[in-house]
Amino acid sequence: MLDLDTPLKSVLGAKHASLLADELDLATVGDLLNHLPRRYHERGELTDLDGLVVGEIATVQARVTKVVKHKPRADWNTSNRRRESGRTEITVTDGRGELSLVFFNQQWRAKALTPGTTALFAGKVAEFRGRRQLIHPEVHMIDGPDPDDDAGDGRLGVAGGQLGELGVGVGGDDVAGERGDQASAVADFAGALVPIYPATAKLTSWKIARCLRLVLDSLGALTDPLPESVRSRHRLVGLARAYQLIHRPGTRGDVAVARTRLKWDEALVVQTALAQRRRRVELVATQPRPGRAGGLLDAFDASLPFALTDGQREVSETIAAELAKAVPMHRLLQGEVGSGKTVVAVRAMLLAVDSGGQAVLLAPTETLAAQHHRSLLRLLGDQARAGELGVSGPATRVALLTGSMPARARRDTLAAIADGSVGLVVGTHALLGAGVTFHDLALVVVDEQHRFGVEQRDELRSRGRRPPHLLVMTATPIPRTVAMTVFGDLEVSVLNQLPSGRSPISTFVVPAVNTVLMSRMWGRLREEVAAGHQAYVVCPRVGEGTAGAGDPAGTEEPAPPEPVESAQPGGQGPRDGGERVGATVAQTLPRLVADELAGLRVEGLHGRMPAAARDDVMTRFAAGEVDVLVATTVIEVGVDVPNATVMIILDSDWFGVSQLHQLRGRVGRGSAPGICLLQTCVDATAPAAERLRAVASTSDGAELALLDLAQRREGDVLGAAQSGGRRSLRLLELLRDEDLIRSAREEAGAIVAADPELQSLPALRRLLADALDETSAAFLEKG
Ligand code: ADP
Ligand code: MG
Repeated sequence: MLDLDTPLKSVLGAKHASLLADELDLATVGDLLNHLPRRYHERGELTDLDGLVVGEIATVQARVTKVVKHKPRADWNTSNRRRESGRTEITVTDGRGELSLVFFNQQWRAKALTPGTTALFAGKVAEFRGRRQLIHPEVHMIDGPDPDDDAGDGRLGVAGGQLGELGVGVGGDDVAGERGDQASAVADFAGALVPIYPATAKLTSWKIARCLRLVLDSLGALTDPLPESVRSRHRLVGLARAYQLIHRPGTRGDVAVARTRLKWDEALVVQTALAQRRRRVELVATQPRPGRAGGLLDAFDASLPFALTDGQREVSETIAAELAKAVPMHRLLQGEVGSGKTVVAVRAMLLAVDSGGQAVLLAPTETLAAQHHRSLLRLLGDQARAGELGVSGPATRVALLTGSMPARARRDTLAAIADGSVGLVVGTHALLGAGVTFHDLALVVVDEQHRFGVEQRDELRSRGRRPPHLLVMTATPIPRTVAMTVFGDLEVSVLNQLPSGRSPISTFVVPAVNTVLMSRMWGRLREEVAAGHQAYVVCPRVGEGTAGAGDPAGTEEPAPPEPVESAQPGGQGPRDGGERVGATVAQTLPRLVADELAGLRVEGLHGRMPAAARDDVMTRFAAGEVDVLVATTVIEVGVDVPNATVMIILDSDWFGVSQLHQLRGRVGRGSAPGICLLQTCVDATAPAAERLRAVASTSDGAELALLDLAQRREGDVLGAAQSGGRRSLRLLELLRDEDLIRSAREEAGAIVAADPELQSLPALRRLLADALDETSAAFLEKG
């Protein structure tokens, strides 16, 4: 009896096992069973030939309409004539379009492929004189003898080595007995549905199907990772049955039943891992931080120049209640751009200090850390000047700690953090690996980084004497299912109300070909500056040779423009043959200074600049001494200059939906309305242009996040989860499977509560271990 660990070699023989290993990296029975069909053909249903793409390996089901045998040319010399038995051209149809199949030296093809016959054909799609063709396709008869295979003995790898001969070799001598083998191939496809697998030129879909048949026929009862109770509650079939149904379905209903079951495996594994994590977090007691009356927080509230929004007040109360407990807080605060998360964070941090502890605020970039430092000093005033002359009342000190600070200053700061004289620390994530010792770390706030992974969260928690409380903040709206999956170990709060008095941002798409609109665009920027406001011009790149704006260490720009890496449909970035290069700060800056923005105070800002220069530019921009900032995505998150009212994004099609939404959140933060202009060179009909119009048409970040998610593969959302792994989320669709994910979350909670280490569920424990050490760990980390 086989189980999932059985090497394929012992089932299929060395030859086919190595073919599966080489072509598809499948080594065990489990690997093969998890190589799932891409789609299914109804028996007799013809493939739409219009969909074929030249250069791709295609598997089609089509009907033969015409067979033409070309005789070898008479003038061929003898040696050629001996070998050349002529070219056979077979025309097949899907009922509308046609495709030609060309065979050399295979006159016998015509015998099996008579007009009216339907079969599967696989090969690389080519084009010849405007007609699409497959040269020497592999052929698989569905309802009759298979010209390619001698399947008679039912075991691969014994006779003939047919699988090994899939080579597309033209002019082979065809002696291998493929023709006319009368064994019916029907046995390969039990039902009316023919599974079509991801295949390669050397390993066709039906060869895979055949290997699967052999495996499935001798598959024993598998130990099921899903507990019996879960299966019966949710009416899920057993694992072995699910594999049978997904690979050899009788009906579409079978496929659905199997998929649901296999999705459950994926969902339950992820949710169980998260439930275990939550539990471990809760097991460790920490110090309650209830604050105190008459402390820093009270003084801060009294001096705040505005009233908190209802949302800010509610979230603050939740946080205060959690900080007062002996269980570490573990909370994600999601708040629309400009919703005022910083104030909420500062209040929590002051509570920590009022309770005798320290708090740290981590930002994704140095620019943002420096800004936070400045605004903390401003917000706190005297309260941040503990120990200075003339300061009375409760006070603490605020330190900035970044990767690029001079060694001396760094040493002093570290000492002050270690002896507790500094209560609030602002820094970049570089702070994590830097061997920083806190006197008594009470709270960690991670700003603008939902990508802050589980591992990093764990690392931080292990920092203090007791695990610190944790608050992660992000402006990226996170669909509920993503939150449940990727951030399943965090409780979520949402701030979706903007402080009153904000004006909406209007967004427009500006096609580069429209010179009138282009000059209006720059004119608009000049008008804003003339009215005393400031502006951003965003470029996708720093300079030549820098795809994306990020510096390699990732300390500055949060993320390179998305089309660079993600398979956004219609993304017009460098994937399009490198023709479009995308504006750079290096080129744009001097051009604007000389031309469109002549006479204005213009500065550049990007992650390759030395930290001091960056800070200088940012400080002067914030102080209103610079009119226009020509920047990369270094300003994407968090930068808060309320006087900035206009943003022009050059080559905006380089960016993804959510990123554009983030970027434009930098304007309209004060009382004056904001305007965002999305310049683009792409054609109005391109999918990228569609994306830009979507961004222009709504300011609802949650709606855009869903659009973003819908446009990407799930794999992009989950980072590496999907890239190489077999057990990662392949079937689960975060947008569609919300109910299933929710149920799996409940079940996982119950399972872990009853049996935290899964002692009684070895199969689930194993699945979990596999998933975690390969790929899911990667996605949990990336978050
Ligand atoms: P984000 O949530 O995007 O990080 P910030 O915390 O940077 O937003 O806040 C954006 C701006 O709104 C800041 O200038 C901040 O001082 C201001 N702000 C925050 N809360 C309020 C409020 N309740 N009323 C008015 N302005 C506020
Ligand atoms: Mg912020």
